[in-house]
Amino acid sequence: MQFVKYDHTAQTVTLPVLGCVKCSEKRVLKEGCRFLRATVSCQNGKYYASLLYQYEEDIRPVQITDEKQVCGLDYKSDGLYVSSKGECPHMPHYFRKAEKKLLHEQRKLSHMIESHITGYKYIEDRRIPVYDRPLYECRNVQKQRAVVSGVHEHIANQRSDWLHKCSKEMAEKYSAVCVENMNMKEVADKNFGIGKSTMDNGYGTFLTNLAYKLEDRGKRLVRVGRYYPSSQRCCTCGYVYPVIKDLSIRWWTCPACGTDHNRDVNAAINIKHEGLRILGIT
Ligand SMILES: [Zn+2]
Repeated sequence: MQFVKYDHTAQTVTLPVLGCVKCSEKRVLKEGCRFLRATVSCQNGKYYASLLYQYEEDIRPVQITDEKQVCGLDYKSDGLYVSSKGECPHMPHYFRKAEKKLLHEQRKLSHMIESHITGYKYIEDRRIPVYDRPLYECRNVQKQRAVVSGVHEHIANQRSDWLHKCSKEMAEKYSAVCVENMNMKEVADKNFGIGKSTMDNGYGTFLTNLAYKLEDRGKRLVRVGRYYPSSQRCCTCGYVYPVIKDLSIRWWTCPACGTDHNRDVNAAINIKHEGLRILGIT
C-alpha cells in the first residue's frame, strides 16, 4: 500500500501508473490514520481521486439538559426547512442566475442541432429528424454539449456546497435536531405541481449530511413518526384541527385557544415537542 501517497504541504498525490500529480486539497490528515483505498473517477473530463483513511476517535455523546439545545425542522417545498424558531435558510440568489445561464446555453444547443436537420422520416408514427451528418461529427454541437454539461456541473456543485453549509450550521448550533421521517419520492409524487422544486432543493441530501455531521459530534438526529399530525395540531394547547390538511392555508387561528399560527413554524414546534418526548426530555 505504498503506491498511494498524499502530501498536504506540496499538494500532491502519488498514484500508481500516473505517478505524482498536483491536487487542490490541503487538508491535514489525522495522526495515526491508516490508508484504506483510493478511487479515481472522471466526470465531464475532470479527474477526481478519493482517498479513504481510517482513524480511531472517541466520540462522547453530548448530554441534553435544556430544551433550548433541541431544534425541530419542518420540510418546506420552496426553500429547505423552517425551524421551530421560525428560521428558514435563504436559497442563494446565484442559483437563479446559473439557471438562467443554463436555459440560454441549452437553447443555443437546440438551435445548433436544428440547423443540421435536413428533413424527417417516420417510423411507426414517430417523427425522427434526419441530419446532414452524424451529430458526433459536428464540432460546434459537441463543444456546446460540453458547455451545457459544464453549467449543470456548476449548479450541482453550488447546491451541494450550500447544503453542506446549512447542515453544518445546524449541527454546530444544536445538540439534537428533530425531523419528520418522510419519503421524499412520495412527497414529490403527491405534490405534482411543486414536485420539481421538491426534488430540486435537496432536502434528502441535507438530512443525510446533517445525520453524519451530528453523529461526528456525538449529537442526535431524531426522526419523528410519519403519521404524527404535526401540521394539524396546535402547538400551544394540542387541539387537532383537520381543516389545516389543506396545503394552501399558510396562517390559521386555533379555535380552542385562539393562538395565531404560521403553518410551517407550528409544525416545526410540534416536531420538536414529539422529538423531546422521544428523547425523554419534557
Ligand atoms: Zn390551541
